[in-house]
Amino acid sequence: MKTAEQILMKESLEKDEIIYLLSTQDKAERNLLLETAGRIRKEYVGRNVYLRGLIELSNICRKNCLYCGIRKDNKKVERYTLDDRQVIDTVRQALDSGFGSIVLQSGERTDKNFTSRVARLVRQIKEISGGKLGITLSCGEQAPETYREWFEAGAHRYLLRVETSSEELYYKWHPNDRVHEYSNRLISLEALKKTGYQVGTGVMIGAPYQGIETLAEDLLLFKELDIDMIGMGPYIPHEDTPVFDPEEDLPSPAERLELTLRMIALLRIIMKDVNIAAATALDVLAPSGRVMALLAGANVFMPNLTPGENAKKYALYRDKPYFEGLVSSAMEKVDEKIEPAGLKIVYDKWGDSPHFTRRVVIN
Ligand code: SAH
Ligand code: SF4
Repeated sequence: MKTAEQILMKESLEKDEIIYLLSTQDKAERNLLLETAGRIRKEYVGRNVYLRGLIELSNICRKNCLYCGIRKDNKKVERYTLDDRQVIDTVRQALDSGFGSIVLQSGERTDKNFTSRVARLVRQIKEISGGKLGITLSCGEQAPETYREWFEAGAHRYLLRVETSSEELYYKWHPNDRVHEYSNRLISLEALKKTGYQVGTGVMIGAPYQGIETLAEDLLLFKELDIDMIGMGPYIPHEDTPVFDPEEDLPSPAERLELTLRMIALLRIIMKDVNIAAATALDVLAPSGRVMALLAGANVFMPNLTPGENAKKYALYRDKPYFEGLVSSAMEKVDEKIEPAGLKIVYDKWGDSPHFTRRVVIN
């Protein structure tokens, strides 16, 4: 087997090489992986960290993903939907605070009331910001016409995590029924790309039954799908879910954090010019989990702007951080920590994925 140094000099990585880098216990090799990712990041996407203000529109969901705290059958969840005023007020505050983009995320609903409302909100946000705010949507699997309607309203990026590259594992994490079809996840990603979105996907890391080999395959799938943006984060158990495993059956929090950082670094090395988000879930595992992700190669930071009590009800997993975004001192703290590595948060910029620009120019 080659050493990390030899592997990291190669043009492209094989599966067994990725597995080696995900699992090496040699500290110097591990540090070399992260340093290489840091260098490639500066070369291909620069030093900027782009902001996305996250607005969690509603926790009503028609799905029953077995790991998710707001799954339909969790009767303990108090359901909410932000009203127009709450969304627009939050958008205005985001604009005033220098956010260049927002993400509207939600449980999955496919009824006309919901899909038309999202289109209307997107148009309104575009209007009140004079086109200044970039809009990412993350509202699950939808019909191609809905993706088109939202794109025409002004959304230009979409996040839909494939969750895993293994169909077999997908059905350990989801009911095997028509609402949870793995093939539809892939079909949806293709439809989003065809519609013209910058397409984001991702996986959970360190979740039950997963294993390192699947994680290596996940990275290769992102490349195969030629994806523009990635958001991958550690799995965090939620007591009121069917796959809830006592913590001791999972990789430890420290191991999940480490695996996530290595996945980010490897993705930066494999795909180079994609946007990579520092997932919120990292902050559950370490106080500066997201900062560590930025240092490992991520270039997008997504503070949660969901107003008031609602953010607490959007509990996908345990101890999820809520409202944090508009406190500029919080941003300054992040800046202080990333500055020694030569990185900086930028305001008032969309911060699109260079990979997307290249993909569209080439095709
Ligand atoms: N309903 C939409 C968007 C909201 S869920 C969708 O599913 O695409 C957003 C992401 O939260 C999911 O893609 C999943 O990867 C993540 N998530 C859900 N439960 C989680 C958990 N217990 N730990 C970590 N991430 C989780
Ligand atoms: Fe719904 Fe998304 Fe949670 Fe699945 S992961 S239950 S689709 S909110």
